[in-house]
Amino acid sequence: MSNGIGAHEVLIESPYHNKDISDLLPQEIESYLKMCCMRTADLIKDSRFKYIMVFRNYGSAAGASLEHPHTQLVALPMVPKNALEEIHGAQAYYNYRERCIYCDIIRQEIADKERIILENKYFISFCPFVSRFPFEIMIMPRQHSGYFYHISAEETAALAQILKDTLSKLKKVFVNLSYNYIIHSAPINGEVGVEYYHWHLEIMPKLTQVAGFEWGTGFYLDPTSPELAAQYLKAVKD
Ligand SMILES: [Zn+2]
Ligand SMILES: [Zn+2]
Repeated sequence: MSNGIGAHEVLIESPYHNKDISDLLPQEIESYLKMCCMRTADLIKDSRFKYIMVFRNYGSAAGASLEHPHTQLVALPMVPKNALEEIHGAQAYYNYRERCIYCDIIRQEIADKERIILENKYFISFCPFVSRFPFEIMIMPRQHSGYFYHISAEETAALAQILKDTLSKLKKVFVNLSYNYIIHSAPINGEVGVEYYHWHLEIMPKLTQVAGFEWGTGFYLDPTSPELAAQYLKAVKD
């Protein structure tokens, strides 16, 4: 049982009604990301909150309820189930290998090259080896860190650029695309050791429908291999 405490904020990314993140200038995306971090840093002061999630729904198929492009931030009194499963998985890996699973994934993806879409000094964007949805994308910081809102000014600039370029590519492949993205960061005020959790941004394009099989089993069917998806995205010209 938990009480009804929480916070929900809508962050307006820009004054432009018709501009998606990918249409903004890198500096504009940078100040938007700074705003997300500032709001998180403020909300963690409330010790009743255990988890803060930043997410974005773009397009009606992704469940966007307001027309003006926006991002949402929720502060919850518990760690939600999906985040908890990911954290427990990372914890089990760490107990076994004494290494962060995400740092290992980054090394593996860089070595394999096949699923990488973009790289810069601080981030990589790639189609994960085990994608649940076609064209699912992860953006991960190369530097190990559990918390999104701890990113430095230089990392913020690099994240703005890779987010813009990754979304631009995706939107050139799919016209009128709806998508969601979620920032997964370590729980706050919790017992989670940041040595085994590594924050990341997950982009989920709405290309297929979650139906009976997925609802019933929790297993996902992905008709497009991540290698093929990455190949398509990489080939898109700026
Ligand atoms: Zn790591
Ligand atoms: Zn995640």
